[in-house]
Amino acid sequence: MKFDTLIKNGLVILEDEAKEVEVGIKDGKIAEIGTDLGEASEVIDAKGLIVSPGMIDAHVHITEPGGGYRDDWEGYETGTRGSAKGGVTTIIEMPLNQVPATTDHESIQVKYEAGKGKLAVDVASYGGLVPYNLDGGIQELDEDGVVAYKCFVATCGDRSIDGDFMNVDDYSLYEGMKQIAKTGKILSIHAENAAITDKLGEIAYKNGETTMAAYVDSRPAFTEVEPIQKLILFAKETGCRIHIVHVACEEGVEAIVKAQKEGVDVTCETCTHYLYFYKEELDDIGPVVKCSPPIREKARLEGMWQRVLNGDINFVTSDHSPCNPELKDKDNAFEAWGGIAGVQNNVDVLFDEGVQKRNMSLTRFAEIIAKNPAERFDLKEKGSIKEGKDADFVFIKRDAPYTLKAEDLAYRHQISPYVGREIGAQVVRTILRGQTTYEQAEGLKPEFIGEFIKK
Ligand SMILES: [Zn+2]
Repeated sequence: MKFDTLIKNGLVILEDEAKEVEVGIKDGKIAEIGTDLGEASEVIDAKGLIVSPGMIDAHVHITEPGGGYRDDWEGYETGTRGSAKGGVTTIIEMPLNQVPATTDHESIQVKYEAGKGKLAVDVASYGGLVPYNLDGGIQELDEDGVVAYKCFVATCGDRSIDGDFMNVDDYSLYEGMKQIAKTGKILSIHAENAAITDKLGEIAYKNGETTMAAYVDSRPAFTEVEPIQKLILFAKETGCRIHIVHVACEEGVEAIVKAQKEGVDVTCETCTHYLYFYKEELDDIGPVVKCSPPIREKARLEGMWQRVLNGDINFVTSDHSPCNPELKDKDNAFEAWGGIAGVQNNVDVLFDEGVQKRNMSLTRFAEIIAKNPAERFDLKEKGSIKEGKDADFVFIKRDAPYTLKAEDLAYRHQISPYVGREIGAQVVRTILRGQTTYEQAEGLKPEFIGEFIKK
């Protein structure tokens, strides 16, 4: 038999155009793209469906192991199954919230061990940059195969937990960037001004503010832009390649585009929730939609979309950042955990909001969910429907509205701000390296065929 699997009759998103072609798969790789390709052991009929590269969600928090502190937040099995059900084939997993945080050889081995045999998607890992791993930790993580590094300039971590993640001070940022520059890998940064956002939050809380709107006001847009500008300056000084995670305002994107024109190696992502929700509705939804940077005013929404459509924003992620339900179930927004669980609803929401409602081209759609993160993080086997690449796909049914229910969610806690929302497109099938991991009629496959990607 020429192929193991042949995908027929779908509208396939190739790198430069979307076209009705067949895709032949052999040994988990895309072997041939064309018409009348010949025989295969299995034929998948994608008639009426869009065949897109599987999503690479470059920002996902899996909280395993939880170290006795966050054991019930999210695990590899549930987190990756929710990903697969949402059309994701690769995640890049963050170095924090699990205990210990991923900051050296020992802690990343703990994580690789914890995820063994429990992956429904391929998983690349971030290593952390923290003030306490400048004495060899960065180099160990490089040798252990992280695809990139992550640090916070905003306050993060719980100081009562030994080994928890910690934001950088200016010196450790500077020193860490010099060390990371030598690895050639990218440093991704959560950019919010720590002192100002902490203090404004503290004052609002003391004044008895409780609403989501007040929470948003405690983290104004300029507190994103200021550290972005500083990070660009540090990047120029150290030669470190940088990526700003979850930018939530247009001014932040503009600062990055300006630096790109000056030759700085900097990119950014935004998240699906910044392209969907807006401040004026947050109090109706509640703390389930709390995150930082916060979701901003409705007047900013189309400006953010414009920057996705024109390519200024490199790609879109979920920042799936779950916790246990108790930490979200608060009357006071300031007391709730800041993080949105949403890994399952990026492909469908972005397809609906981008392609169906805002005329985004199919190739641009494939770029923001797959091609651009693959290129930025040098995942050479991934990201495009092209001969020689991994056979990773998501099949999308367009113009097929459905209302998301909590019981649809396959990750650990069935919590999502998208629950109850009508989404205008559906994920029908997910294929990882030639094998179906999710199919709408039959559900998720029981096998865990995902692997850790090490670079
Ligand atoms: Zn995050």
